[in-house]
Amino acid sequence: MTDQELWQTVLGEIELSVSRANFITWFKNTSISARENGGVIVSVPNGFTKEWLENKYHKFILKALRTHAVDVKDVRYIIGAYTPPKRERFEPISENRFDIGSLDEQISVAEFEQPSLINEVNLNTRYTFSSFIIGSSNELAYAAAKAVAGSPGTLYNPLLIYGGVGLGKTHLMQAVGNEIYQTRPGTKIKYVAAERFTTELVNSIQEKRIEEFKQRYRQIDVLIIDDIQFLSGKEKTQEEFFHTFNHLFATNKQIVLSSDRPPKAIAAIEERLRSRLEGGMIADVGAPEFEMRIAILKKKAQERGFDLPEDVAMYIATKIQKNIRELEGAVNKIAAYVLHAKTIPSLKITEKILSSLINQPKRMVLVKDILKTVGEFYDIHIDEIINQSRRKEVVKPRQIVMYLLREELRSSYPAIGAKLGNRDHTTVMYGCDKISKSLEDDLTLQEELRLIRERLYASIG
Ligand code: ADP
Ligand code: MG
Repeated sequence: MTDQELWQTVLGEIELSVSRANFITWFKNTSISARENGGVIVSVPNGFTKEWLENKYHKFILKALRTHAVDVKDVRYIIGAYTPPKRERFEPISENRFDIGSLDEQISVAEFEQPSLINEVNLNTRYTFSSFIIGSSNELAYAAAKAVAGSPGTLYNPLLIYGGVGLGKTHLMQAVGNEIYQTRPGTKIKYVAAERFTTELVNSIQEKRIEEFKQRYRQIDVLIIDDIQFLSGKEKTQEEFFHTFNHLFATNKQIVLSSDRPPKAIAAIEERLRSRLEGGMIADVGAPEFEMRIAILKKKAQERGFDLPEDVAMYIATKIQKNIRELEGAVNKIAAYVLHAKTIPSLKITEKILSSLINQPKRMVLVKDILKTVGEFYDIHIDEIINQSRRKEVVKPRQIVMYLLREELRSSYPAIGAKLGNRDHTTVMYGCDKISKSLEDDLTLQEELRLIRERLYASIG
């Protein structure tokens, strides 16, 4: 296998296991620039990518390389030309590093990237305050969002909305944008997912357009960034976000953020950023209570042009409790039936229609589900949890894995040790105990475990 074939094979594997955005961000424009005596040198377009691959993907890359070339012992990353011509290996980034060789990659990145004009507000008009149903689980967040929409940049800045999946965070923050868009024409509003913010930043660095990126964000009047837990561990992005944030804040521009957990529980987020977040207004959205679930179901049915019978609404509200998106999914299924059968289904028929949604026999949680969920939650690679890494950031997640294997799978201590890189059963006992004890008074940990369990069961459902 030539170096190029080897790298293509490895990339193919990586592509399957990371998100599209991550793949494009971190692996485009990489290549093997040299390989001798078991050492592989991977050339990357910039220092940012180098740092990221070294810290986050190294083990993964090494393993993938070894699977296809057994002689590989080590990998190093250098900043260099994409197509390795005869240049000095450690040459600094040159102006024309994206020459002809990388044209294809540039084009495909461009296809993936949509242009982000300042006036491209990126709002979904469906998400308004009037289509948002209020109950005790979200009234604070609603009131704060409404206040911000009424006088952006003055009251609550930043406004951070947090809560579990499918509970209306995106809806609410988009409603802020939509209302300001309607009531204050000319206001520059931008909604962006944190993941996308990162991709834009990385691309602008690669393409030497960082100034343009800064300008673009600093001209905005209302900046809405969704799912900021995604910034966890991404130092460069956090730094840029912090500067943008300060700039907007100092000029009384409004910032609205969402996260799936409170700032305290976002691991690896810079202290100064965390205290900035905590300096604003933080409001959570929780799971809706029964009455609210009924109200949501009825309203969503009405929006789709039919009335939901009481018994049907009660049935669904009893079966689906934690996620508004799922309630909506149930209504959509019934709406499809109504359209087709031209009649409103009885309870019996509803049970049939929704059986795949509600009675789905869930498969058992597997060891790998726990590893994957915990790894993703703390942004740590599974290999690092299993291996002997003593990095401080890994110790707690590893103990949480032990704890969950014990609690959710009822595994024995020696069995857990065996799964986790052949650790001794006493180490496992210690880890499980540590988490049990901390859970008694550590609210952050309680919250983290709640979220991890939620994701764990969502991932297999
Ligand atoms: P999150 O961002 O918290 O994961 P979303 O905002 O995407 O959740 O909400 C999921 C779906 O549920 C969306 O279609 C949204 O319109 C709907 N939804 C959530 N909360 C409410 C609410 N209080 N009233 C009406 N619809 C809601
Ligand atoms: Mg969302």
